Amino acid sequence: MFSVSKNPTIREIQLLYKQNKATPSQVTQFFLNRSKQVDKEIKAVLRYTEDLAAIEAEFCDNLMNQYKEEKGSAWFEELIKDYPLFGIPYSIKDNILVEGEVVTSGSKILQDYKSAYSATVYLKIKQAGGILISQTNQDEFAMGSSTENSAYQTTHNPLDTKRVPGGSSGGSAAVVASGQAVFALGSDTGGSIRQPAAFCNLVGVKPTYGMVSRYGVMAMASSLDQVGPLTNNVYDNLLVLRVLMGKDPNDNTSLFVPELEKSMSQLIDYINQKIFNTKKMVKTDQPFKIGLIKELLGEGVEPEIRNRIKEIALELHNFGHEIAELDLPLTKYALAIYYTLMTVEVASNLERYDGIRYASKVISEIKDPELFFTARDVGFGDEPKRRIMLGTYSSSSGFYDAYYNRAEKVMMILRQQFQQAFEKVDLILTPTSPEFPFRIGYKSNNPLAMYLSDIMTISSNLTRTPAISVPAGLVTYFDNQALESSKLPIGCQVLGPEFGDDKIYKLAFEIEQLVKNLNR
Ligand code: GLN
Repeated sequence: MFSVSKNPTIREIQLLYKQNKATPSQVTQFFLNRSKQVDKEIKAVLRYTEDLAAIEAEFCDNLMNQYKEEKGSAWFEELIKDYPLFGIPYSIKDNILVEGEVVTSGSKILQDYKSAYSATVYLKIKQAGGILISQTNQDEFAMGSSTENSAYQTTHNPLDTKRVPGGSSGGSAAVVASGQAVFALGSDTGGSIRQPAAFCNLVGVKPTYGMVSRYGVMAMASSLDQVGPLTNNVYDNLLVLRVLMGKDPNDNTSLFVPELEKSMSQLIDYINQKIFNTKKMVKTDQPFKIGLIKELLGEGVEPEIRNRIKEIALELHNFGHEIAELDLPLTKYALAIYYTLMTVEVASNLERYDGIRYASKVISEIKDPELFFTARDVGFGDEPKRRIMLGTYSSSSGFYDAYYNRAEKVMMILRQQFQQAFEKVDLILTPTSPEFPFRIGYKSNNPLAMYLSDIMTISSNLTRTPAISVPAGLVTYFDNQALESSKLPIGCQVLGPEFGDDKIYKLAFEIEQLVKNLNR
């Protein structure tokens, strides 16, 4: 019998194979059993993909036998070189298509919609040896910061089950944090990977726009959406993103950036050689110049969070990096820009759900000459409706110039400001979230308060730049409203310039080690 730790890494699982302690089918069964047990309380899983998992696991079993037969003593090294995610059970957010499976984007309007084809990201993970075991809960059409906007269920934060796991990829974060899967895919339009990662003490990345194909990912705001991994450590995250990235002929916004692909592969090799062979802290590069943004470390940020980020900056300074203060005055408008541009794209993208195409059972029961209206009325929850109305308003004739066009102009200036900032510094350090994971129900009736959760994360979507959230440790937090204290996680965010995805991983990797050394 083999054992698996509570939050296993990819390496831990693959060592089971190397040491002949388990087969991929056995490991998959183990995770399915564990997940069904754990998820009674967490409620992160919408559906298990057991039949598919069995097929993918069997494929891996056969592959393992084949490599053992053909490659001799180096079979394992050869195997993971060809299949870097070999035998790893993972979960996928419910807005990513998997052929033949029900996929709903957390919405009733797609309740029993079955995908006709698979997303590129799913196919890439499959080709790398991953085993899909479940589809995870999310805010409806990825709109929200707590996963409470799901039409199906409320997911609980595994670190404190009275609290939300963040959102909109809250289900993906919760399955990884509760050990139900080794990693999960999420999507990030304004922070939906990074904020749940911060709330669940995980690593989550939003890559440079275009690094990862959006083909087969249900669109929220197409010019901002990116898929990325949620993992237990930085190395795993890097490994999964390396598999995901690259040009896809099916998505003409996806990009081939050969230097970045190469440098990501080199970083994987470097960490692989160093980290697993040394107890000392590992540096990954020449010292960076790291910017701290005044506007994002002031009022409105919980003092414990602010202090922790400053402490990390100080440690990074002691470690040889240079720290500089930075002004990015336009970040205070980022929220306004985002909620203007994003809602317009949402209104347009969600037009296709009309009750005729992508029909579902809820809709087919409607006997009504006004089918379109009734279908949308019954099928959409409050948040999509709110955003469709806002987006329709600000893109309608007479208002277009005042809202959409203006927001677009300010966004272009924000992009310039970011470009200029990255001429002065290599990377920027901010909190991922200004607040701790909040209690379930605490904000669900206050959309504006919920929108404010995104203040730290949306700028990188608007500026197309990469950003990663890495755990900055736990603190004991006293909740003034609930009058009780609990141990809650803090996320530290590293922002980089466009195509600086390798750089954000380098710094995140050092922060991960620092936090471990500091025993936070
Ligand atoms: N919380 C943000 C929103 O509600 C982010 C959503 C996302 O990144 N998908 O728009």
